[in-house]
Amino acid sequence: MNMEASLTARDRVGIQDFVLLDNYTSESAFLDNLRKRSHENLIYTYIGTLLVSVNPYKELDIYSKKQMDTYMGVNFFELPPHIYALADNVFRTMQSEYNNHFILISGESGAGKTEASKKILQFYAVSCPSTKLLNNVRDRLLLSNPVLEAFGNAKTLKNDNSSRFGKYMDIQFDHQGGAVGGHILSYLLEKSRVVHQNHGERNFHIFYQLVEGGEEDLLRWLGLERNCQHYRYLVQGDCAKVSSINDKSDWKMVRKALSVIEFSESDIENLFAIIASVLHLGNVKFEADFKALYLSSCDFLKLFFCLAVQLLGIPTQVLQQGLTHRKIEAKTEEVLSPFSVDHAVYARDALAKAIYGRTFNWLVNKINESLANKDSSRKTVIGLLDIYGFEVFNVNSFEQFCINYCNEKLQQLFIQLTLKSEQEEYEMEGIEWEPVPYFNNKIICDLVEEKHRGIIALLDEECLRPGEATDLTLLEKMEEEIGGHPHFVTHKLADKKTRKTLERGDFRLLHYAGEVTYCVVGFLDKNNDLLYRNGKEVISFNFYCKKQVVTQFKSSLVGLTEILMSKEPWYVRCIKPNEAKQPGRFDDVLVRHQVKYLGLMEHLRVRRAGFAYRRKYDIFLQRYKPLCPDTWPNWRGTAAEGVQRLIKHLGYKPDEYKMGRTKIFIRHPRTLFATEDAFQIC
Ligand code: ADP
Ligand code: MG
Repeated sequence: MNMEASLTARDRVGIQDFVLLDNYTSESAFLDNLRKRSHENLIYTYIGTLLVSVNPYKELDIYSKKQMDTYMGVNFFELPPHIYALADNVFRTMQSEYNNHFILISGESGAGKTEASKKILQFYAVSCPSTKLLNNVRDRLLLSNPVLEAFGNAKTLKNDNSSRFGKYMDIQFDHQGGAVGGHILSYLLEKSRVVHQNHGERNFHIFYQLVEGGEEDLLRWLGLERNCQHYRYLVQGDCAKVSSINDKSDWKMVRKALSVIEFSESDIENLFAIIASVLHLGNVKFEADFKALYLSSCDFLKLFFCLAVQLLGIPTQVLQQGLTHRKIEAKTEEVLSPFSVDHAVYARDALAKAIYGRTFNWLVNKINESLANKDSSRKTVIGLLDIYGFEVFNVNSFEQFCINYCNEKLQQLFIQLTLKSEQEEYEMEGIEWEPVPYFNNKIICDLVEEKHRGIIALLDEECLRPGEATDLTLLEKMEEEIGGHPHFVTHKLADKKTRKTLERGDFRLLHYAGEVTYCVVGFLDKNNDLLYRNGKEVISFNFYCKKQVVTQFKSSLVGLTEILMSKEPWYVRCIKPNEAKQPGRFDDVLVRHQVKYLGLMEHLRVRRAGFAYRRKYDIFLQRYKPLCPDTWPNWRGTAAEGVQRLIKHLGYKPDEYKMGRTKIFIRHPRTLFATEDAFQIC
């Protein structure tokens, strides 16, 4: 290839590693490169070893077995960027260094996180050494996906297959690199979807799969009709049918997957009976008579009670009462008082959410039993984290608060691990460097989670004062306790100009990724997650853990952070090019925002601050040795000496590079670029 041809090609397809971008501090240059590449269907670009992926919104012919083979065991930078290259690099690093790793996949809804995690899993399934025994594990690992997606994913406005829970999956490997087991942790399933869906959205896929695809016998046994329109919980969003989704064939897939994962026939029956019971429960009606509230009698009500007794162990009497009456504790006795119809509907929906939430947890546990590796010899692990990205809607509630808090924690981890590892590497190699200034979001994490006066602590405190506390007293308490915090503002605290942008019931957090205004209404109820809550009376069917939702979430995030801190990080950052889910469209404003909050410019700066490139001496020498007569074809000395000789011949200036203990560090990408060009020409 001559120099001119290589330049034109670069102009057209952009640069495959942002580290090589001349104008690396310019966001516009960054965007230009990303736009160029995605127009050429080159959806992957590196920032060093971080992979940026732009959703193509169309099937690309780049995931075949042949492609997998191409990427297997090849040096990371030698082929065009690909998710397989990353997967392969992680796998080989794990094998050679015999340590644990994780791949953090982030991006907003619809950006391609779940697809990326599936691609990685498939790569391991196909490429890892395998035996007949291991094939079983491999199949279960692969098939856990459709099951979890059926129960945990739904059509939303942003994504027809949107994951409504966070997922961390460990894949365990033995000495030979065979996949021998796995373990899944799930985070914060969006249970409210079971009873309510916004216009244009659906409930979890499994409901539609059962109704559309369930066998005649099964539906008869469950008392279900083959018509989604009959079930209140399925039609709130008015879009039971979605053109991109085939519920019938998905049902078959899920059935098959369940049996491969070794769910027994009776487990499977129970599982679908519970799903059916939720549908029946949704259709339960209430009638208010003079002073009393009754359940309107109908067939599915009987069925629901029957299923509830059998499967949930809740006696009919208790259920009937729980759905229609509340207990009031008077001085010496308990008095039953009938609900209003509204209250009864609330209690019914709360029960449906609780049942579904529990079922989901049970499902994850069952999958884990089946993936568990019984052999106790030491394993190495690659973890895959596919978790919700930063969310900002017109109205943001408790759910967004939790999700955005989670993102703050992951950003904190990213800062610690990336900067830390960078520093450590320089230290280990005996190289001096200038640390990069960056915004440390610890101040926001503390604002949310600090003991006693963080937002979570205040929220929990208010939840422990039933009858007295309301969402608004929570707001007041926050104003009192953290009113002076630079990342927190409310209507009352704001200056004149900002006040115009806030309602009285709002609080705004200045997240690392931008401002989000939360509406405080519903925070207490959602945090309590009780079946019913009104004043001092609480109905509970006795299957609740006493911890508040956000506190449970906080401890699960602490657990996750610990898991991740002990492993080596790799990153996939997914970008959504347009809101229309269409191929070939690249919306600059939308992408620019994501580039910002995914911390890509920061990452690039860190990568570039010291030395843009580093390569092990032997790898560097192996690639570029044809450029120097002393090193070609064979160099007999040490790799480090060979590299010295080579770069002297190439005319590297002393301030352009440093020699570490095992690697050469190159300050500017253009140096390496020139070398790479010379290599291409020769
Ligand atoms: P997320 O998990 O980030 O919300 P998904 O991974 O579910 O997003 O992707 C949303 C949709 O975008 C997918 O259903 C698929 O249609 C499309 N998509 C994502 N990644 C790819 C890809 N690499 N190739 C083709 N289509 C993709
Ligand atoms: Mg997803």
